[in-house]
Amino acid sequence: MSGFDVIVVGGGHAGCEAAAAAARRGARTLLVTHKLDTIGEMSCNPAIGGLGKGHLVREIDALDGVMGRAIDRAGIQFRMLNRSKGPAVQGPRAQADRRLYRRAVRALLEEQPGLELRAGAVEDLVLDRQGRIAGVALAGGETVSASAVVLTTGTFLRGMIHIGRETRPAGRVGDAPAIGLARTLERLRLPMGRLKTGTPPRLDGRSIAFERLEEQQGDDPPVPFSAMTDRIEVPQTVCHVTATTPETHALVRANLGETAVYAGRIGGAGPRYCPSIEDKVVRFPERAAHRIFLEPEGLDDPTVYPNGISTALPEAVQRAMLKTVPGLEEAVMLRPGYAIEYDFVDPRALRPTLELQAVPGLYLAGQINGTTGYEEAAAQGLAAGLNAAGADAVFDRAEAYIGVLIDDLVTRGADEPYRMFTTRAEYRLSLRADIADLRLTGRGIALGCVGAERARRFEARRRALAEAEARIRRLGGSPAALAALGFQVNADGRRRSAFDLLRYPDLDMAALRQIWPELGAVRADVVSQLETEARYAGYLERQEGDVRAFRRDERLALPQTLNYDAVAGLS
Ligand code: FAD
Repeated sequence: MSGFDVIVVGGGHAGCEAAAAAARRGARTLLVTHKLDTIGEMSCNPAIGGLGKGHLVREIDALDGVMGRAIDRAGIQFRMLNRSKGPAVQGPRAQADRRLYRRAVRALLEEQPGLELRAGAVEDLVLDRQGRIAGVALAGGETVSASAVVLTTGTFLRGMIHIGRETRPAGRVGDAPAIGLARTLERLRLPMGRLKTGTPPRLDGRSIAFERLEEQQGDDPPVPFSAMTDRIEVPQTVCHVTATTPETHALVRANLGETAVYAGRIGGAGPRYCPSIEDKVVRFPERAAHRIFLEPEGLDDPTVYPNGISTALPEAVQRAMLKTVPGLEEAVMLRPGYAIEYDFVDPRALRPTLELQAVPGLYLAGQINGTTGYEEAAAQGLAAGLNAAGADAVFDRAEAYIGVLIDDLVTRGADEPYRMFTTRAEYRLSLRADIADLRLTGRGIALGCVGAERARRFEARRRALAEAEARIRRLGGSPAALAALGFQVNADGRRRSAFDLLRYPDLDMAALRQIWPELGAVRADVVSQLETEARYAGYLERQEGDVRAFRRDERLALPQTLNYDAVAGLS
């Protein structure tokens, strides 16, 4: 029986980050997954990032993870969402070429020293006499030992696919479910539940009347996710938008009884924020249209992903539904949409390290913990991989969205598939996506998971920021001196620095450079950083006070013997 420090089961988004993180930290790591070809597979929409999710990707990148670098090698349209809103709620997102994304993830894992990849199905876990994890058993009988195991099996635990009245066991289309492992978890008496999710049909782009549809352009130039990417080299493309019609809704309504959910054959909760078209029609009867984003699945692939019409209606009804949508009247359906129901483990059975309380050394990450989304899975994978490799990688709610995500899961559980939003974070201004590196790369270096090149780039950026801020704070003057330079401020006799002037809504670095040309030497990323910091300085100071109070409360340990009945006013 050969041995590893860490074995990661599953090569999805959680598993890839877990394996890479454990290996970066120096653990001898094995990643076992059903098929090496599906490493980094996007089971659903071909996109990474978005509101809240983009923050997670930047944080993963700040800790030297895989996802940001992979999407930069595979992104075919980059957009900053919520650009018109404040910087705290802006979310970077990129459309991905699926094949390039898989290839990028695989390449990044293959070049990671200390990490071995192996195709295989894990059927059982091996525990020692004390009930601690000791390894895994593969289909075929071989066992492989390890001091820690990270399970990241996604929707595969007793997965069951539904299309209309048809039902079949599967982890996702084309993949068998994991039955043996589901039985193992049951035997361990873990609290488990059932959830569901769904995916839309896939269309042949050559049969879509794009010329009649609204076009959506990406950002120019595209802004990379990773601090390690200087510029995006992948050719960029356009997306298109259409919408459902009252005819679509009538058809859906008439066939609700044909779906497993509405016929009562699936019980588990579905993703509230990514509802099926059936759910949208039922929940919003007053709406005449729901937007559909037609997302290309790749540069050399005609497949189109119609984002917004996830469905489990019978195949024939799905075809009829497409005919009611402008631009899709002649669309050829390559694959029907479907719903999938699967087992998950109640994440309240986990410690904040994502280790199971009941089984020392066994960590869970990703959709198995009741979350939905690639980014949520990857963020947990990274934390679980580091902890499995012996790091103390617990992040608090004021430090990272990764902290918010894991804290929510282990303290509140998931009664529906959990997805990240900026509204889940209390300290949004200090958790901005643009400063993920400043928040976390230093911590990552201390945790031993950041490579030398990233550490060098990070130090250079931090130094450039500190020097630019010091320089801009040195410039300035009294109200009279500033008036002589053309800046009208209150004549209160108080000196204002050029940094203070940036707080004024009509002033930016370009305006300041007219007066102080020496500011022209400041790097572009540092300029936008300083503008944001200055503009929000007052709010940030207030938030720092809130964070200090939060951390004080977090450190307060309540005795197990506390009699809550005796606390007056506690509801
Ligand atoms: P996965 O990406 O599912 O990876 C699991 C991996 O584990 C697979 O590679 C599998 O082969 C491997 N594996 C499983 N069991 C074993 C075993 N016993 N031995 C070896 N290997 C094993 N998210 C959204 O945000 N929006 C959506 O609209 C959405 N729709 C979805 C629709 C469908 C049909 C599916 C399947 C998923 C959908 N998701 C959606 C969820 C998203 O795909 C997942 O949240 C994300 O991929 C989870 O990542 P993961 O790493 O936890 O699992």
